[in-house]
Amino acid sequence: MEQNEKQLSFKDALDRNLRGWKIIWNYQPKLMIAFLLQAVFDGLGPYVTIYLSALIVDELAGERSPERLTFLVIVCLLASAAVLIGRGALGRWAQAESDCFYHLEEKIYMDKATSMEFARIDSQKTYDVYSQMKQNRQWMLYGLYRDVWHLPQLLKSLLQIMGGIGLSVTLFLKKVPTDHMLSFLNSPLAAVVCLGLMLLIAVLSPFLSNLSEGYWVRYAPMAKLGNRVFSVFFFTAQEGKRCADMRMYRQNQNVIEPLMDSCDSFLPGSAIAKWSKGRKGLFAGLSKAVSAVMTGVVYLFVCLKAWAGAFGVGMVTQYVGAITRLFAGVADFLEACGNLRANASFLDTTFEYLDLPNEMYQGSLTTEKRSDRNYQVEFRDVSFKYPGSETWALRHVNMKFQVGSRLAVVGQNGSGKTTFIKLLCRLYDPTEGEILLNGIDIRKYRYEDYIQIFSVVFQDFQLFALPLGENVAGSRHYDRDAVSDCLQKAGFGERLTHMEKGLDTYLYKDLDKEGVEISGGEAQKVAIARALYKNAPFLILDEPTAALDPIAEAEIYGKFNEIASDRTTVYISHRLSSCRFCDEIAVFDQGAVVQEGSHEELLQDADGKYYELWHAQAQYYTEEAVRVLLG
Ligand code: ADP
Repeated sequence: MEQNEKQLSFKDALDRNLRGWKIIWNYQPKLMIAFLLQAVFDGLGPYVTIYLSALIVDELAGERSPERLTFLVIVCLLASAAVLIGRGALGRWAQAESDCFYHLEEKIYMDKATSMEFARIDSQKTYDVYSQMKQNRQWMLYGLYRDVWHLPQLLKSLLQIMGGIGLSVTLFLKKVPTDHMLSFLNSPLAAVVCLGLMLLIAVLSPFLSNLSEGYWVRYAPMAKLGNRVFSVFFFTAQEGKRCADMRMYRQNQNVIEPLMDSCDSFLPGSAIAKWSKGRKGLFAGLSKAVSAVMTGVVYLFVCLKAWAGAFGVGMVTQYVGAITRLFAGVADFLEACGNLRANASFLDTTFEYLDLPNEMYQGSLTTEKRSDRNYQVEFRDVSFKYPGSETWALRHVNMKFQVGSRLAVVGQNGSGKTTFIKLLCRLYDPTEGEILLNGIDIRKYRYEDYIQIFSVVFQDFQLFALPLGENVAGSRHYDRDAVSDCLQKAGFGERLTHMEKGLDTYLYKDLDKEGVEISGGEAQKVAIARALYKNAPFLILDEPTAALDPIAEAEIYGKFNEIASDRTTVYISHRLSSCRFCDEIAVFDQGAVVQEGSHEELLQDADGKYYELWHAQAQYYTEEAVRVLLG
């Protein structure tokens, strides 16, 4: 948990909270309305009963008129019931809205993540800030979620103070008869001493409570490692897919538990446990004790004035009730200010994440829609280093894509193939050199337009737990025939015929208990179908058959021309056998393009990288061929 060591001024803390409230208001105004209305009812509602009860007691102690008593009792009952119903209904509403916000807060971060340029998301700094923010939330819900409570807490306490003043101000105006021995209670000094004492206690109690709560904030940096270990290992360990690994290697006993033991955040010997037994606990206890003394002082002052004849017994109920609530309001107000301040430093991390800038240059040119798909892309002396890295991932790459051609990109792991694709799709900008689309630097195009010309199947593609058809179309409304056709081309046709609900079959079981679990290979076919459905001029397949069995792989190759159609296709693979049908093969080695040509041409060069890779892999092709033959 990141927390500023230096204490923020109240104004700075308020500014941060104000910004938090604005964000919450923009996303979920109903939440703020529900909480604020609830604050009004909670702050002022109890005074209705206090005021009306006092009138009833006065009537009972005075004239005891049955008509007036009946009237007062009915009004008191109705008003109290109305307040209670209002508080109950608003409480439920606020609770429901706050439950929604628990998830909506994730949407705020998702919106940021999806609007952030890829290079930024991919950086270590972004990951650090993001995980810090998530840990703050896990740590007592610090950050935006907690901010939701503080505004109503402030409003409620202020209203409680105002209501209390309204009902108790006459306590100091009503005089004890001058001949009474307690007539000194009429003096301004007595009022000031009494008020001062009450105020002191009202301030002391939350002060002690804040001191006690402050230990959580102090503990946050110490629990950082423990929390991170907890969230990384424990939550991952709960994922079904991980369970097999966990059992086979007894990872929970051998790795996770010893690791948790080594960071004692959650153990009885932890600092917070020790503090709770010591000063933290003492401050919490003293805070409660001091507020009990407060009630005693109020009773003493009010009862003495009543006994001396300043007012009747009904007013005793009113004053005691009102003053107790008034000072509880003061305590709440101070506590709210303390909470606001404590949360402000956690909000800093949230805003640091939300304020991460997009620095990629955004051009304004639009890519004209061309039915002839004549989009010429060229890499001109492109070199690239990942942010924060000292080594070149790509070096002096020159490449021109022939429209409608099939280019294979091959090379060993780490040779720069995926990086090359990331630059082509402008997930990153080159460190040196430029990439041109129809002769113009791609940075000058609107990013949204530019990426529309690419359909990509990344190695780590994602499918959603949604119906199959929606996954392929990337939309809720789609052309069913076109989706079926793409699935057919991607080799998923057979499987589709066995799905009772066809395109409406949910993938995975997260959202539908009748959802189907599909294998890695089948998922890859769905991802290929999705790329085909987008029907972009460029089709990029990054190791598209890595998860497929040899038969399915052979099936895809057989249909490759049909799949690629008139698109410019880039096919990345470290399996050279799967690239033979491409017009041109580019061989990557240590970030550079070391050879280019057709399969036959490249094999001619016995000193070349391609020749070396081909012969190194030849033995596996034989095995693969045998497996294909044996079915
Ligand atoms: P390939 O796709 O050929 O396996 P990559 O393009 O993924 O290779 O990687 C090329 C080089 O860039 C490798 O040395 C790899 O370690 C490095 N690299 C890849 N991704 C990142 C990243 N996000 N940050 C830093 N270095 C990276």
